[in-house]
Amino acid sequence: MLNKTIESISRVDGLWTLPDGISTDEWAAEVRRLKEEKNALILAHNYQLPEIQDIADHTGDSLALSRIAAETDADVIVFCGVHFMAETAKILSPEKTVLIPDANAGCSLADSLTADELREWKAEHPGAVVVSYVNTTADVKALTDICCTSSNAVDVVASLPEDQEVLFGPDQFLGAHVRRETGRDNIHVWAGECHVHAGISGQELSQQAHDNPTADLFIHPECGCANSAIYLAGEGIVEPERVKMLSTGDMISQAKSTNQSTVLVATEVGMLHQLRQANPEVDFRAVNDRAACTYMKMITPAALLRCLALGEDEVTVDEETAAAARRSVERMIAIGNPGSGE
Ligand code: SF4
Repeated sequence: MLNKTIESISRVDGLWTLPDGISTDEWAAEVRRLKEEKNALILAHNYQLPEIQDIADHTGDSLALSRIAAETDADVIVFCGVHFMAETAKILSPEKTVLIPDANAGCSLADSLTADELREWKAEHPGAVVVSYVNTTADVKALTDICCTSSNAVDVVASLPEDQEVLFGPDQFLGAHVRRETGRDNIHVWAGECHVHAGISGQELSQQAHDNPTADLFIHPECGCANSAIYLAGEGIVEPERVKMLSTGDMISQAKSTNQSTVLVATEVGMLHQLRQANPEVDFRAVNDRAACTYMKMITPAALLRCLALGEDEVTVDEETAAAARRSVERMIAIGNPGSGE
């Protein structure tokens, strides 16, 4: 039955799709059986489809999952997320086999700064220190001095001498947040963005904050609405203590301890599944319920089953690039509080 099922998995509208007649229970049983057989560990990012999150061994943000991958004694890591995340797991665990269920799962933010563009930018600013958000390819990490997450971006830049010129990329909204928080004017920010987060507008946030006057606001600093949230708090339109700029990992921690009955969430909608599980008493509402990442949703149940059965798609990073990229990630960890990324 398994061989027939695997052979019948096909791409429909670009997504790996199961043949008709396979129930969720049958799919889940096959995934678990193959996982045992291959001594594999399944990791799922917070933006994955609910069924993928539910069958994973661990769910979390990109950096936390990569660190779990580095510590496990499983032979195979199946990273259910986008390609740069699986690459980061491979960089931190070069001796393990790292698979992604669909290698076409890219990231508009990581794509917004290529290695060639970064080389040119560095040449224009000799002597500048490059700080890159973890949403970057291995090639870009290899050209980076220090990586950062949304939790520690401010700390990483603040750890540099005040007169040190900084190139910050690729996310312009996170860069603006860092510039505001550090008060530095020697940070050059790359004009990249994630199309999903940039699509969560200040207008939607203002309207929802107005309609839900007691709700807390959980905002990912990559969001297009991040500046609006700071503005709303600064103008007294919402109380500053209601506005919480949080990485996805920190959102889960805050969800468990909040005493609000309603929380407005400004990030990719897959996050709501984890937040509702973390605290079922709270009404978590998306600021923009259309903010879904099509790349994340390429990791379908069929893609995961095919990946485990065939050992595809394998993620590789050449040794030289991996070593340089690892240095930039380890420098970040040495500064402390790596927290979490997206
Ligand atoms: S939500 Fe944006 S930053 Fe995250 S994986 Fe999708 S495109 Fe990339």
